Amino acid sequence: MQTHILGYPRIGSNRELKKACEQYWTGKIDVNGLLETGKTIKNKHWKLQQEAGIDLIPCNDFSFYDQVLDMTLTLGAIPERYREIAARKHETDLYFAMARGFQKESMDITAMEMTKWFDTNYHYIVPEFQKDQEFSLFSEKIIEEFTDAKEAGIRAKPVMIGPVTYLLLGKEKEEGFDKLDLADKLLPVYLQILKELENQGAEYIQFDEPFLALDLSEKAKETYQWVYAEIRKHFPDLKLILATYFEGLNDNLTLASSLSADVLHIDLVRCPEQLDDVLQAVPETLSLSLGIVDGRNIWKNDFGKSLNFIEKTIQKIGSERVLIAPSCSLLHIPADLDAENNEEILSGEIRQWMAFAKQKVNEIVTLSKLASGDTDENTQQQFDDNRRAIEKRRISTLIHNHDVKDRVEVTTEEDAKRSSPFKARKRSQQDILQLPLFPTTTIGSFPQTKEVRNWRSKFKKGELNADEYDALLKQETERTIRWQEDIGIDVLVHGEFERNDMVEYFGEQLAGFAFTQNGWVQSYGSRCVKPPVIYGDVHRPAPMTVYWSEYAQSLTKKWVKGMLTGPVTILQWSFVRDDQPRSLTCKQIALAIRDEVTDLEKAGIRIIQIDEPAIREGLPLRTSEWQNYLKWAIEAFRISASGVEDATQIHTHMCYSEFNDIIQNIADMDADVITIECSRSQMELLNAFADFKYPNEIGPGVYDIHSPRVPPKEEMMELLKKAQAVIPAEQLWVNPDCGLKTRHWEETEKALIAMVAASKEMSKVPAL
Ligand code: GLN
Ligand code: ZN
Repeated sequence: MQTHILGYPRIGSNRELKKACEQYWTGKIDVNGLLETGKTIKNKHWKLQQEAGIDLIPCNDFSFYDQVLDMTLTLGAIPERYREIAARKHETDLYFAMARGFQKESMDITAMEMTKWFDTNYHYIVPEFQKDQEFSLFSEKIIEEFTDAKEAGIRAKPVMIGPVTYLLLGKEKEEGFDKLDLADKLLPVYLQILKELENQGAEYIQFDEPFLALDLSEKAKETYQWVYAEIRKHFPDLKLILATYFEGLNDNLTLASSLSADVLHIDLVRCPEQLDDVLQAVPETLSLSLGIVDGRNIWKNDFGKSLNFIEKTIQKIGSERVLIAPSCSLLHIPADLDAENNEEILSGEIRQWMAFAKQKVNEIVTLSKLASGDTDENTQQQFDDNRRAIEKRRISTLIHNHDVKDRVEVTTEEDAKRSSPFKARKRSQQDILQLPLFPTTTIGSFPQTKEVRNWRSKFKKGELNADEYDALLKQETERTIRWQEDIGIDVLVHGEFERNDMVEYFGEQLAGFAFTQNGWVQSYGSRCVKPPVIYGDVHRPAPMTVYWSEYAQSLTKKWVKGMLTGPVTILQWSFVRDDQPRSLTCKQIALAIRDEVTDLEKAGIRIIQIDEPAIREGLPLRTSEWQNYLKWAIEAFRISASGVEDATQIHTHMCYSEFNDIIQNIADMDADVITIECSRSQMELLNAFADFKYPNEIGPGVYDIHSPRVPPKEEMMELLKKAQAVIPAEQLWVNPDCGLKTRHWEETEKALIAMVAASKEMSKVPAL
């Protein structure tokens, strides 16, 4: 039985890669310094896996920015606008220009688009295709990494995005062709890469083809058959590993097992049910790689459970045809749990249930030893320790809270419903709120200046005491309230100065959440996130936001909007417990937020926003699963929102989303007002809302907060007119696209003054 890793996190346990990239971008180190850091990281990870006893150690899983962009450069699919840079600059600069744009030396070239990698929080750079797209071997990175590994004494397994997945990840930049038609031009370059790798002595090659676990068109299926038949024809002796993950093969099982690969990797964490079908279908020439250790989450593997899967497989196909692996690349989890050594941040009890990348590598090796009966005392010890940790976690009082479980139990459909329909609520709300036509508001946060962040870090270090910190935040909040009053915004916000991050802030105050010191995961390029860990039943020991909302409201006669993060977003942006369904955890969070909503109402807050920017990204990869997800996700939002009186107005906010295909579900959320990102798409999004006749109120963002540019009043009016053409004025709000936290005050002031003017003017314009 062999062991292998699909990919190792490259950011480094101290985020060495992030630091080196950022130093390179700001000119603090030169290209050799950067490449040197890359080499050190790669060597360290190879050695680590070698010492752990992994059989097939990956290479080319390292990347300075993104593995899809690496493939684009390898295949020479460089968009026309980078020609000049390609001619004038080092390959590394071309590479970063494609990732980040280039505004220097009299060039001003935009970056390539970035989007989410399947259902993860990792973002890849989208390949761009033209009708007459050509490919050629441009970057030799993959071959260099193989030879580097060889020098380090490792016959590595090169990994790369498979040809069909590569095409499916890309975007046609002009009309009149289908990206899959490019397969015959693409294939020769892949063959050339394989040839070089074979010449260098490569034995195994891993092609990542996650699309095999998704819904595929007939054409995509045919492309798969054709491409892999060609590869096999040219390379009868290379051992091909086809890696699928994030979903089960399901209807593509016959296709995947007929592609004449040597090894098929399946994700048994996401889809354990598929094992029986796969065992039925697998031809004798095909080995199976069991993706059994969770590459998407931070929990220790349950050896007992995993061994059952492995033994079942061995019985059916024999141990020579079995490989043990993580479910997917370990890119999506932090590097090393050993770096979590501060008991005050992460308690030993919770920590013993967890495993990061380095620990998971060891789990793989131990599992293979246990399954093959090759056990010494040490392995047996690990098995016993594992069983004890799993058992402790199962019964831990830290995790289980009977009050929470009982409350979930008695939550009914009624709890997910406001008392009256929207029309009646609107009347009660307007009686109290007395808002003008085209009311203005913002999405919540105001600029988090260096000063504000400085206060927080001083407070954390103990250089400011709680009273001093509180006084500074109050001062900033009051200033912001006064300023909004001065410029005439209708519904004010307190500015969120007390918050570090919209999920972390709530996680820190909810029971059932833990945090790490160093649990960084790459989000895109050098950008990393440190997701909270939901380990136990969630509840709210005390009010979380009432203090600040009440304070802000006390300063003004205008309405101040309470500001909360919704249950689906909190769930989506955390590492979630794996011992109960996500939907159940989400319901627990929903009840906690519901308590906060009703406490805000009691404190006199009449408008409360529950942000759900992540609702769409939680959509399952298989469309057949969508309705199930949407049902519990929307219900969770409604549970959080429905504890209030008719007269209390509930807002929600969403961004970065295409809503067209889930518009009905968004309406089902039944928020009184939704504010959405719209301006970058020039209100195209509104068509969805118009065709559908969105019933409640809506604030299409009238300016893009992602850029410092200040749009003139007229431009915002244009957008509002577009909106008014499809949605009645009585339903429209006026607001920016998203929170203003990343902006500076200078442009924020100008933009909001123009926005208020646009709203005033609009109420004078007669309707069409
Ligand atoms: N209320 C949050 C803010 O204004 C919303 C952020 C978001 O949508 N991502 O920052
Ligand atoms: Zn937003």
